[in-house]
Amino acid sequence: MNFVPEQRTNPEYFTPLYQLALNQFEKAVDHLKLPPDVTEWIITPGRSMMVSLPIRMDDKTVKTFYGYRVQHNMALGPGKGGLRYHPSVNLGEVTALATWMTWKGGLMNIPLGGAKGGIRCDPKKMSQAELEKLTRRYTAAIFPIIGPEKDVPAPDVGTNSQTMAWIMDTYSMRTGFHTMGVVTGKPEIMGGSLGRMEATGLGVAHSIAYAAKKINMPLEGATVAVQGFGNVGYYTAKFLQGMGAKIIAVSNSLGGVFNKNGIPIDPLHQHSVEDRQLDNFPDTEKITNAKLLATKCDILVLAAMENQVTEKNAAKVNCKIYAEGANGPTSLEADKILEEKEIFLIPDILCNSGGVVVSYFEWVQGMQSFFWDMDDIYKRMEKMLQNAFEETYTLHQQEKVGMRTAALMIGIKRVAEAQMTRGLYP
Ligand code: GLU
Repeated sequence: MNFVPEQRTNPEYFTPLYQLALNQFEKAVDHLKLPPDVTEWIITPGRSMMVSLPIRMDDKTVKTFYGYRVQHNMALGPGKGGLRYHPSVNLGEVTALATWMTWKGGLMNIPLGGAKGGIRCDPKKMSQAELEKLTRRYTAAIFPIIGPEKDVPAPDVGTNSQTMAWIMDTYSMRTGFHTMGVVTGKPEIMGGSLGRMEATGLGVAHSIAYAAKKINMPLEGATVAVQGFGNVGYYTAKFLQGMGAKIIAVSNSLGGVFNKNGIPIDPLHQHSVEDRQLDNFPDTEKITNAKLLATKCDILVLAAMENQVTEKNAAKVNCKIYAEGANGPTSLEADKILEEKEIFLIPDILCNSGGVVVSYFEWVQGMQSFFWDMDDIYKRMEKMLQNAFEETYTLHQQEKVGMRTAALMIGIKRVAEAQMTRGLYP
Protein backbone atom coordinates (compact mmCIF):
# COMPACT_ATOMS: atom_id res chain seq x y z
CA MET A 1 0.00 0.00 0.00
CA ASN A 2 1.26 3.44 -0.85
CA PHE A 3 0.94 5.47 2.36
CA VAL A 4 3.39 8.18 1.43
CA PRO A 5 2.98 9.17 -2.23
CA GLU A 6 4.67 12.53 -1.66
CA GLN A 7 7.86 10.78 -0.48
CA ARG A 8 8.02 8.67 -3.61
CA THR A 9 8.23 11.58 -5.97
CA ASN A 10 10.38 13.83 -3.82
CA PRO A 11 13.47 14.30 -5.98
CA GLU A 12 15.65 15.43 -3.05
CA TYR A 13 15.59 12.07 -1.30
CA PHE A 14 14.74 9.73 -4.10
CA THR A 15 17.42 7.03 -4.45
CA PRO A 16 17.20 3.22 -4.55
CA LEU A 17 18.24 2.91 -0.90
CA TYR A 18 15.66 5.41 0.30
CA GLN A 19 13.07 3.60 -1.77
CA LEU A 20 14.01 0.39 0.02
CA ALA A 21 13.58 2.09 3.41
CA LEU A 22 10.15 3.36 2.29
CA ASN A 23 9.04 0.00 0.94
CA GLN A 24 10.04 -1.78 4.14
CA PHE A 25 8.24 0.90 6.17
CA GLU A 26 5.04 0.61 4.17
CA LYS A 27 5.03 -3.16 4.48
CA ALA A 28 5.33 -2.89 8.28
CA VAL A 29 2.82 -0.03 8.59
CA ASP A 30 0.29 -2.10 6.65
CA HIS A 31 0.04 -4.34 9.75
CA LEU A 32 0.01 -1.52 12.30
CA LYS A 33 -3.13 0.37 11.36
CA LEU A 34 -1.70 3.77 12.26
CA PRO A 35 -3.69 6.88 11.29
CA PRO A 36 -2.48 7.92 7.79
CA ASP A 37 -1.53 11.43 8.91
CA VAL A 38 0.67 10.00 11.68
CA THR A 39 2.24 7.60 9.18
CA GLU A 40 3.22 10.49 6.94
CA TRP A 41 4.40 12.53 9.91
CA ILE A 42 6.82 9.91 11.26
CA ILE A 43 8.31 8.83 7.94
CA THR A 44 9.07 12.34 6.66
CA PRO A 45 12.74 13.25 7.39
CA GLY A 46 12.75 15.93 10.10
CA ARG A 47 15.79 17.96 9.15
CA SER A 48 18.47 17.56 6.49
CA MET A 49 21.62 19.61 6.27
CA MET A 50 23.87 19.59 3.23
CA VAL A 51 27.20 21.40 3.43
CA SER A 52 30.18 22.12 1.21
CA LEU A 53 33.55 21.25 2.69
CA PRO A 54 36.54 22.92 1.07
CA ILE A 55 39.87 21.64 2.38
CA ARG A 56 43.49 22.08 1.36
CA MET A 57 44.84 18.76 0.15
CA ASP A 58 48.43 17.60 0.67
CA ASP A 59 49.33 18.76 -2.86
CA LYS A 60 48.23 22.31 -1.79
CA THR A 61 45.19 22.44 -4.08
CA VAL A 62 41.75 23.11 -2.56
CA LYS A 63 39.21 20.35 -3.02
CA THR A 64 35.56 20.79 -2.09
CA PHE A 65 33.54 17.85 -0.76
CA TYR A 66 29.83 17.38 -0.03
CA GLY A 67 28.75 16.58 3.54
CA TYR A 68 25.33 15.65 4.97
CA ARG A 69 23.57 15.23 8.29
CA VAL A 70 19.99 14.01 8.35
CA GLN A 71 17.92 13.93 11.53
CA HIS A 72 15.07 11.70 10.56
CA ASN A 73 12.90 11.64 13.66
CA MET A 74 13.56 12.84 17.21
CA ALA A 75 10.32 11.85 18.94
CA LEU A 76 12.15 9.50 21.31
CA GLY A 77 15.18 11.68 22.04
CA PRO A 78 18.21 13.42 20.51
CA GLY A 79 19.39 12.19 17.12
CA LYS A 80 21.74 9.22 17.07
CA GLY A 81 23.57 7.60 14.20
CA GLY A 82 26.85 7.07 12.47
CA LEU A 83 28.94 9.14 10.12
CA ARG A 84 29.94 7.51 6.83
CA TYR A 85 32.88 8.38 4.56
CA HIS A 86 32.37 6.68 1.21
CA PRO A 87 32.25 7.58 -2.51
CA SER A 88 28.58 6.51 -2.74
CA VAL A 89 27.31 8.88 -0.01
CA ASN A 90 24.42 11.14 -1.09
CA LEU A 91 21.37 12.71 0.52
CA GLY A 92 19.08 9.80 -0.30
CA GLU A 93 21.48 7.21 1.10
CA VAL A 94 22.07 9.16 4.30
CA THR A 95 18.31 9.66 4.69
CA ALA A 96 17.63 5.93 4.31
CA LEU A 97 20.29 5.16 6.92
CA ALA A 98 18.87 7.84 9.26
CA THR A 99 15.38 6.36 8.84
CA TRP A 100 16.66 2.91 9.89
CA MET A 101 18.31 4.49 12.94
CA THR A 102 14.89 5.83 13.98
CA TRP A 103 13.32 2.37 13.95
CA LYS A 104 16.46 0.82 15.51
CA GLY A 105 16.23 3.20 18.49
CA GLY A 106 12.52 2.39 18.83
CA LEU A 107 13.11 -1.35 18.63
CA MET A 108 15.90 -1.25 21.22
CA ASN A 109 13.75 0.97 23.43
CA ILE A 110 16.45 3.60 23.95
CA PRO A 111 15.69 7.31 24.42
CA LEU A 112 17.30 8.39 21.15
CA GLY A 113 16.01 9.44 17.74
CA GLY A 114 17.34 8.51 14.31
CA ALA A 115 20.03 10.42 12.44
CA LYS A 116 22.94 9.77 10.08
CA GLY A 117 25.71 11.73 8.45
CA GLY A 118 28.12 11.28 5.61
CA ILE A 119 30.75 12.82 3.41
CA ARG A 120 31.14 11.82 -0.23
CA CYS A 121 34.85 11.01 -0.39
CA ASP A 122 37.17 8.05 -0.68
CA PRO A 123 38.95 7.82 2.69
CA LYS A 124 41.16 5.00 1.39
CA LYS A 125 42.75 7.46 -1.01
CA MET A 126 43.23 10.29 1.51
CA SER A 127 46.04 10.96 3.99
CA GLN A 128 45.43 11.22 7.74
CA ALA A 129 46.08 14.98 7.54
CA GLU A 130 43.45 15.38 4.82
CA LEU A 131 40.93 13.28 6.74
CA GLU A 132 41.52 15.33 9.88
CA LYS A 133 40.92 18.61 8.02
CA LEU A 134 37.80 17.22 6.37
CA THR A 135 36.42 16.00 9.69
CA ARG A 136 37.11 19.28 11.48
CA ARG A 137 35.56 21.33 8.68
CA TYR A 138 32.50 19.07 8.64
CA THR A 139 32.12 19.42 12.41
CA ALA A 140 32.27 23.21 12.15
CA ALA A 141 29.72 23.15 9.30
CA ILE A 142 27.14 21.03 11.16
CA PHE A 143 27.96 22.56 14.57
CA PRO A 144 24.57 24.29 14.93
CA ILE A 145 22.62 21.05 14.78
CA ILE A 146 24.77 18.57 16.78
CA GLY A 147 25.49 18.31 20.50
CA PRO A 148 24.82 15.97 23.44
CA GLU A 149 21.19 17.13 23.69
CA LYS A 150 20.65 17.54 19.96
CA ASP A 151 22.28 14.86 17.85
CA VAL A 152 25.20 12.55 18.58
CA PRO A 153 27.27 11.09 15.71
CA ALA A 154 29.25 7.83 15.92
CA PRO A 155 31.44 5.74 13.60
CA ASP A 156 30.06 4.05 10.49
CA VAL A 157 31.66 2.81 7.25
CA GLY A 158 34.96 4.65 6.62
CA THR A 159 35.18 6.37 10.03
CA ASN A 160 36.58 5.23 13.38
CA SER A 161 37.41 6.31 16.93
CA GLN A 162 40.05 8.77 15.70
CA THR A 163 37.41 10.50 13.57
CA MET A 164 35.24 10.81 16.67
CA ALA A 165 38.15 12.26 18.67
CA TRP A 166 38.62 15.00 16.03
CA ILE A 167 34.89 15.80 16.12
CA MET A 168 34.88 15.99 19.91
CA ASP A 169 37.93 18.24 19.93
CA THR A 170 36.60 20.58 17.24
CA TYR A 171 33.19 20.77 18.88
CA SER A 172 34.76 21.47 22.31
CA MET A 173 36.99 24.20 20.85
CA ARG A 174 33.85 25.89 19.57
CA THR A 175 31.76 25.54 22.73
CA GLY A 176 34.77 26.50 24.87
CA PHE A 177 34.40 23.51 27.18
CA HIS A 178 35.07 19.79 27.16
CA THR A 179 31.98 18.22 25.57
CA MET A 180 32.28 14.47 25.89
CA GLY A 181 28.67 13.64 24.97
CA VAL A 182 28.77 15.09 21.45
CA VAL A 183 29.95 11.83 19.85
CA THR A 184 30.20 8.15 20.78
CA GLY A 185 32.70 5.56 19.64
CA LYS A 186 35.54 7.74 20.95
CA PRO A 187 38.93 6.36 22.01
CA GLU A 188 38.84 5.20 25.64
CA ILE A 189 41.30 7.90 26.72
CA MET A 190 38.76 10.50 25.59
CA GLY A 191 35.72 9.03 27.31
CA GLY A 192 34.99 6.22 24.92
CA SER A 193 33.05 3.35 26.47
CA LEU A 194 34.72 0.06 27.11
CA GLY A 195 33.39 -2.45 24.62
CA ARG A 196 32.13 0.05 22.00
CA MET A 197 34.73 -0.98 19.43
CA GLU A 198 33.59 -4.61 19.34
CA ALA A 199 29.93 -3.97 20.30
CA THR A 200 28.36 -4.28 16.85
CA GLY A 201 30.14 -7.55 16.02
CA LEU A 202 29.48 -8.96 19.48
CA GLY A 203 25.79 -8.07 19.11
CA VAL A 204 25.67 -9.78 15.70
CA ALA A 205 27.23 -12.91 17.22
CA HIS A 206 24.73 -12.88 20.12
CA SER A 207 21.80 -12.47 17.72
CA ILE A 208 23.06 -15.42 15.71
CA ALA A 209 23.31 -17.48 18.89
CA TYR A 210 19.67 -16.63 19.78
CA ALA A 211 18.55 -17.55 16.25
CA ALA A 212 20.53 -20.81 16.34
CA LYS A 213 18.66 -21.78 19.53
CA LYS A 214 15.32 -21.14 17.85
CA ILE A 215 16.16 -23.55 15.03
CA ASN A 216 17.94 -26.04 17.30
CA MET A 217 21.26 -25.64 15.57
CA PRO A 218 24.38 -25.95 17.73
CA LEU A 219 26.93 -23.20 17.16
CA GLU A 220 29.74 -25.63 17.88
CA GLY A 221 31.09 -26.60 14.47
CA ALA A 222 28.53 -24.47 12.55
CA THR A 223 30.02 -23.19 9.29
CA VAL A 224 30.09 -19.44 8.68
CA ALA A 225 30.72 -17.21 5.66
CA VAL A 226 31.31 -13.51 6.34
CA GLN A 227 30.99 -10.81 3.68
CA GLY A 228 32.94 -7.73 4.81
CA PHE A 229 35.99 -7.65 7.06
CA GLY A 230 35.88 -4.17 8.54
CA ASN A 231 35.04 -3.57 12.19
CA VAL A 232 31.70 -5.43 12.08
CA GLY A 233 32.80 -8.41 9.98
CA TYR A 234 36.01 -8.92 11.92
CA TYR A 235 34.47 -8.87 15.40
CA THR A 236 31.48 -10.97 14.33
CA ALA A 237 33.82 -13.62 12.93
CA LYS A 238 36.08 -13.45 15.99
CA PHE A 239 33.22 -13.87 18.49
CA LEU A 240 31.54 -16.61 16.47
CA GLN A 241 34.85 -18.46 16.33
CA GLY A 242 35.10 -18.02 20.10
CA MET A 243 31.63 -19.61 20.41
CA GLY A 244 32.88 -22.69 18.55
CA ALA A 245 31.72 -21.89 15.00
CA LYS A 246 33.97 -22.55 11.99
CA ILE A 247 34.61 -19.55 9.74
CA ILE A 248 35.03 -21.06 6.28
CA ALA A 249 34.90 -17.96 4.06
CA VAL A 250 35.66 -14.26 4.48
CA SER A 251 35.73 -11.46 1.91
CA ASN A 252 36.37 -7.74 1.73
CA SER A 253 36.01 -5.25 -1.14
CA LEU A 254 39.15 -6.63 -2.84
CA GLY A 255 38.28 -10.34 -2.75
CA GLY A 256 38.06 -13.23 -0.36
CA VAL A 257 39.40 -16.50 1.00
CA PHE A 258 37.93 -19.95 1.62
CA ASN A 259 38.94 -23.03 3.58
CA LYS A 260 36.36 -25.69 4.40
CA ASN A 261 38.28 -26.63 7.55
CA GLY A 262 38.13 -23.11 8.98
CA ILE A 263 40.27 -19.94 8.92
CA PRO A 264 41.92 -18.50 12.06
CA ILE A 265 40.40 -15.03 12.36
CA ASP A 266 42.99 -13.05 14.30
CA PRO A 267 45.91 -14.00 11.99
CA LEU A 268 43.68 -13.24 8.97
CA HIS A 269 42.88 -9.84 10.44
CA GLN A 270 46.54 -9.13 11.07
CA HIS A 271 47.24 -10.08 7.45
CA SER A 272 44.46 -7.79 6.17
CA VAL A 273 45.78 -4.85 8.21
CA GLU A 274 49.25 -5.29 6.73
CA ASP A 275 48.22 -6.18 3.20
CA ARG A 276 44.57 -5.02 2.77
CA GLN A 277 44.16 -8.05 0.44
CA LEU A 278 42.84 -11.19 2.07
CA ASP A 279 44.00 -13.54 -0.65
CA ASN A 280 47.42 -15.12 -0.45
CA PHE A 281 46.65 -15.88 3.21
CA PRO A 282 48.21 -19.32 3.91
CA ASP A 283 46.09 -22.46 3.52
CA THR A 284 43.18 -20.75 1.79
CA GLU A 285 41.75 -20.61 -1.71
CA LYS A 286 40.69 -17.37 -3.41
CA ILE A 287 36.96 -16.72 -3.53
CA THR A 288 34.98 -13.89 -5.13
CA ASN A 289 32.31 -11.92 -3.30
CA ALA A 290 29.62 -13.41 -5.54
CA LYS A 291 30.81 -16.92 -4.72
CA LEU A 292 30.98 -16.18 -1.02
CA LEU A 293 27.30 -15.19 -1.00
CA ALA A 294 26.44 -18.53 -2.61
CA THR A 295 28.69 -20.61 -0.32
CA LYS A 296 26.94 -23.52 1.37
CA CYS A 297 27.15 -22.73 5.07
CA ASP A 298 25.05 -22.67 8.22
CA ILE A 299 25.42 -18.94 8.83
CA LEU A 300 25.88 -16.16 6.30
CA VAL A 301 26.87 -12.77 7.72
CA LEU A 302 26.39 -9.65 5.60
CA ALA A 303 28.81 -7.11 7.02
CA ALA A 304 29.80 -5.05 3.99
CA MET A 305 27.49 -2.55 2.30
CA GLU A 306 23.87 -2.17 1.25
CA ASN A 307 22.23 -3.77 -1.78
CA GLN A 308 24.23 -7.02 -1.81
CA VAL A 309 21.50 -9.64 -2.05
CA THR A 310 18.76 -8.92 -4.58
CA GLU A 311 16.37 -10.87 -6.80
CA LYS A 312 19.41 -11.61 -9.00
CA ASN A 313 21.37 -13.68 -6.48
CA ALA A 314 19.04 -14.45 -3.54
CA ALA A 315 18.10 -17.86 -4.94
CA LYS A 316 21.75 -18.89 -4.70
CA VAL A 317 22.04 -18.09 -0.99
CA ASN A 318 22.59 -21.41 0.76
CA CYS A 319 22.52 -20.96 4.54
CA LYS A 320 20.24 -21.55 7.53
CA ILE A 321 20.76 -18.21 9.30
CA TYR A 322 21.19 -14.97 7.38
CA ALA A 323 22.51 -12.18 9.61
CA GLU A 324 22.55 -8.52 8.57
CA GLY A 325 25.53 -6.83 10.23
CA ALA A 326 25.37 -4.10 7.56
CA ASN A 327 22.42 -1.75 7.10
CA GLY A 328 20.17 -2.43 4.10
CA PRO A 329 22.08 -5.31 2.44
CA THR A 330 18.93 -7.06 1.18
CA SER A 331 16.24 -5.98 -1.28
CA LEU A 332 12.56 -6.66 -0.57
CA GLU A 333 12.38 -9.09 -3.49
CA ALA A 334 15.32 -10.98 -1.98
CA ASP A 335 13.55 -11.04 1.42
CA LYS A 336 10.71 -12.95 -0.21
CA ILE A 337 13.05 -15.46 -1.85
CA LEU A 338 14.92 -16.06 1.43
CA GLU A 339 11.60 -16.53 3.21
CA GLU A 340 10.51 -19.12 0.64
CA LYS A 341 13.79 -20.95 1.23
CA GLU A 342 12.95 -20.94 4.97
CA ILE A 343 16.14 -19.12 5.85
CA PHE A 344 16.12 -17.48 9.31
CA LEU A 345 16.71 -13.77 8.63
CA ILE A 346 17.99 -11.52 11.41
CA PRO A 347 17.20 -8.01 10.13
CA ASP A 348 19.74 -5.19 10.31
CA ILE A 349 17.93 -3.01 12.86
CA LEU A 350 17.95 -5.94 15.27
CA CYS A 351 21.13 -7.76 14.25
CA ASN A 352 23.57 -4.82 14.28
CA SER A 353 22.03 -2.86 17.14
CA GLY A 354 24.80 -3.76 19.62
CA GLY A 355 26.71 -0.75 18.29
CA VAL A 356 24.06 1.82 19.01
CA VAL A 357 23.22 0.20 22.34
CA VAL A 358 26.79 0.62 23.61
CA SER A 359 26.82 4.09 22.01
CA TYR A 360 23.83 4.85 24.20
CA PHE A 361 25.81 3.62 27.22
CA GLU A 362 28.77 5.78 26.18
CA TRP A 363 26.52 8.84 25.87
CA VAL A 364 25.08 8.21 29.35
CA GLN A 365 28.54 7.63 30.87
CA GLY A 366 29.89 10.76 29.19
CA MET A 367 27.06 12.95 30.48
CA GLN A 368 27.66 11.66 34.02
CA SER A 369 31.48 11.51 33.71
CA PHE A 370 31.20 8.17 35.42
CA PHE A 371 32.42 5.05 33.67
CA TRP A 372 31.19 1.49 33.97
CA ASP A 373 33.26 -1.68 33.84
CA MET A 374 33.22 -4.13 30.97
CA ASP A 375 31.15 -6.67 32.84
CA ASP A 376 28.36 -4.16 33.42
CA ILE A 377 28.40 -3.08 29.79
CA TYR A 378 28.30 -6.59 28.35
CA LYS A 379 25.56 -7.70 30.75
CA ARG A 380 23.34 -4.71 30.07
CA MET A 381 23.89 -4.97 26.33
CA GLU A 382 23.07 -8.67 26.21
CA LYS A 383 19.88 -8.14 28.16
CA MET A 384 18.68 -5.43 25.79
CA LEU A 385 19.56 -7.45 22.70
CA GLN A 386 17.90 -10.57 24.00
CA ASN A 387 14.72 -8.70 24.98
CA ALA A 388 14.49 -7.12 21.52
CA PHE A 389 15.18 -10.47 19.84
CA GLU A 390 12.48 -12.26 21.86
CA GLU A 391 9.98 -9.47 21.29
CA THR A 392 10.62 -9.58 17.54
CA TYR A 393 10.48 -13.38 17.37
CA THR A 394 7.20 -13.49 19.29
CA LEU A 395 5.57 -10.91 17.02
CA HIS A 396 6.94 -12.72 13.94
CA GLN A 397 5.18 -15.90 15.09
CA GLN A 398 1.98 -14.25 16.32
CA GLU A 399 1.40 -12.08 13.28
CA LYS A 400 2.92 -14.50 10.76
CA VAL A 401 5.16 -11.78 9.32
CA GLY A 402 8.86 -11.95 8.48
CA MET A 403 11.46 -11.08 11.14
CA ARG A 404 12.21 -7.78 9.35
CA THR A 405 8.58 -6.67 9.32
CA ALA A 406 8.19 -7.72 12.97
CA ALA A 407 11.26 -5.71 14.05
CA LEU A 408 10.12 -2.68 12.08
CA MET A 409 6.59 -2.91 13.49
CA ILE A 410 7.94 -2.73 17.05
CA GLY A 411 10.28 0.18 16.27
CA ILE A 412 7.71 2.15 14.25
CA LYS A 413 4.99 1.61 16.84
CA ARG A 414 7.13 3.03 19.65
CA VAL A 415 8.10 6.07 17.59
CA ALA A 416 4.48 6.67 16.54
CA GLU A 417 3.30 6.39 20.13
CA ALA A 418 5.93 8.87 21.32
CA GLN A 419 5.09 11.24 18.49
CA MET A 420 1.35 11.15 19.19
CA THR A 421 1.89 11.54 22.94
CA ARG A 422 4.11 14.56 22.44
CA GLY A 423 1.47 16.02 20.15
CA LEU A 424 1.77 18.69 17.54
CA TYR A 425 3.73 21.93 17.87
CA PRO A 426 2.50 24.67 17.63
N1 GLU B 1 26.65 3.39 12.57
C1 GLU B 1 26.15 2.46 13.52
C2 GLU B 1 24.76 1.96 13.12
O1 GLU B 1 24.40 1.99 11.99
C3 GLU B 1 26.23 2.96 14.95
C4 GLU B 1 25.45 4.18 15.26
C5 GLU B 1 25.73 4.71 16.64
O2 GLU B 1 26.47 4.10 17.39
O3 GLU B 1 25.19 5.77 16.95
O4 GLU B 1 24.02 1.48 13.92
